[in-house]
Amino acid sequence: LKVPQLLCEISPHKKLYNIITPRYNNMIFIVGGAGYIGSHVNKLLSNEGYKTLILDNLSKGHEEFVKWGKFIKGDLKDKRLLARIFKEYDINAVMHFAALTDVRESIQDPGSYYKNNVKNTLNLLDAMRENVKKFIFSSTCAVYGNPLEIPITEDHPCNPISPYGRSKLMIENILEDYSRAYDFNYVSLRYFNAAGADPQTEIGEWHEPETHLIPIILDAAIGKRENVQIFGTDYPTPDGTCIRDYIHVMDLANAHYKALRLLEEDKSEIFNLGNGNGFSVKEIIETCKEITGEKIHTIESKKRPGDPPILIGSSKKAKRILRWRPEFADIKDIIETAWEWHQKLNRETI
Ligand code: UDP
Repeated sequence: LKVPQLLCEISPHKKLYNIITPRYNNMIFIVGGAGYIGSHVNKLLSNEGYKTLILDNLSKGHEEFVKWGKFIKGDLKDKRLLARIFKEYDINAVMHFAALTDVRESIQDPGSYYKNNVKNTLNLLDAMRENVKKFIFSSTCAVYGNPLEIPITEDHPCNPISPYGRSKLMIENILEDYSRAYDFNYVSLRYFNAAGADPQTEIGEWHEPETHLIPIILDAAIGKRENVQIFGTDYPTPDGTCIRDYIHVMDLANAHYKALRLLEEDKSEIFNLGNGNGFSVKEIIETCKEITGEKIHTIESKKRPGDPPILIGSSKKAKRILRWRPEFADIKDIIETAWEWHQKLNRETI
């Protein structure tokens, strides 16, 4: 028997699944697919044989990151564009990454956050709900606010302490109502701290301006900035700095693939995605020093508003139901891939 070549191709994620399933008529619509997490999901799904359609307004994303699938430059506020897309393309599922994500900015300018993250998402949901019955939402651990218990499980109360976290929780509430009334299924993925990059360094983390801890430290390591500010040193943690749960972006991408499979079984769920280990800001700086071999100067600064002292997630539910396992569970592996990418990005853009 001659097996078609595509079906015997070995996936780079061969530990988890060996067979590529082509789905040429059922496109996956990746909104915000030119951004950090969306572009990694696009790469993984494309490698798995899915056909992808990317919508991005490029306000934060990079066209260079859309290396797979078909790209449309456009904005979720454009309802006519959305109607046209759902009419013209045979879309099987929607994944929604397009959002503003900076906690501090959301406190200074909540209007932009509610417009982008809530109003525009409603446009997307209203445009899709007649035709498409599967939705994957990028949510966040910021929906929990200050945790009462660590590690945080999905049934922990949600009391967000920033407009960013509130905007994401609003959509989760809307999804619950919409899915019940309009007969569609969704998976909401509450990411802890996304970090690292594609191990083949085709894509990675690239924000302008950069606000995230690991790329800021790596900027200091390559000499692009003089120092790293440590936001708060008197938090109730062993070394006084905030503790976060860093999760590799390819592991996040893999969870989206698994969530898609779950939606095919007609189920809706909410999952945390983290490693279940916490690292303080100072520990991350030390690990970056070790990996880069560079000196990193630090300055102790005041707390950043909206930062809970500790965020560590339990991903037991995702492991049980999605059969998801992080492959880059070691913080050193996460930072090594970030460092490889960071050096490449700066060779090409400086
Ligand atoms: N942080 C810091 N200096 C920086 C950037 C971040 O001390 O220049 C701290 C921040 O206060 C938080 C942690 O690093 O406790 C992770 O911040 P990041 O912005 O990377 O992610 P967030 O937790 O806000 O999603």
